[in-house]
Amino acid sequence: MSDAVSIVELGPRDGLQNEAVALDVATRAAFVRALAAAGLRRIEAGAFVRPDRVPQMAGSDQLCSTLTADAALLGAGVRLSALVPNLKGLERAVAAGVREVAVFPAASETFSRRNLNQGVDEALASAAEVCAAATRQGLAVRGYVSTAFGCPYEGPVPVAAVIRVCEHLLAAGVHEVAVSDTIGVAHPGQVRDVLSAMLTAVPRERLALHFHDTRGTALANVLVALDAGVRTFDACAGGLGGCPFAPGATGNLATEDLVYMLQGLGLARDIDLDALVEASAAIEEAIGHPLPSRCYRATLASRRVRSR
Ligand code: MG
Repeated sequence: MSDAVSIVELGPRDGLQNEAVALDVATRAAFVRALAAAGLRRIEAGAFVRPDRVPQMAGSDQLCSTLTADAALLGAGVRLSALVPNLKGLERAVAAGVREVAVFPAASETFSRRNLNQGVDEALASAAEVCAAATRQGLAVRGYVSTAFGCPYEGPVPVAAVIRVCEHLLAAGVHEVAVSDTIGVAHPGQVRDVLSAMLTAVPRERLALHFHDTRGTALANVLVALDAGVRTFDACAGGLGGCPFAPGATGNLATEDLVYMLQGLGLARDIDLDALVEASAAIEEAIGHPLPSRCYRATLASRRVRSR
């Protein structure tokens, strides 16, 4: 098992999509460039969803067109991706030069119906349709599996249901499944159990984990997953994006917190934590409220101490 850990930075998409303010394209483009400058090499930049429903992602066409034509980003080997809900979204992504897209079915029926207006099987069929069209055009596809560790409506989600969604996605051609703790309930005991079942069905190099720090367990979950051999983790700079199912609670695992822990373990050495803090500081000012990342806040505080 390689020691190389891969971080998929979702701040510009999952992070900003769940913030109250909608930022303009120029601010979001600068954010993506700052994240790339910090050494992040997989960045989800936008979402090709309806701007009337998700105003935070409006202008993703222009944003992605600009970024995919940016020679500096390409030269640095930055892989940009975007979320697409359907074939129409895929069409927009292709037009904007995006080479990797993400589909997002869920593992629980009620969440799927309420959030995607489709049952699980129907959502899997739509995802397969997007996958087929994307791979025909040479794009890579990532598949998020929402509510994999718990559903806001149904509670516990059987691991067999999660595995079934992963298998469908892999068979449809996704290169990676991002098994996601949408409501931030996962804890290390559960992660250990879920992974021991899941890794019998899903190759570990095709598995990414997406944790939320809603209950303060995200880093502990990553540690357990590292022990189980998982090497790809999603994170959002600064811990951007609240938890829509727990108002006022923190959402996505913060990239700074993840990188700090990984570097302590001798991993993710290619990320410049100070540069990452700079990227977050600029976006914190734009969104107008303090970012929750512990490592980010502590870094700013220790800078103030040093400059006294
Ligand atoms: Mg998330």
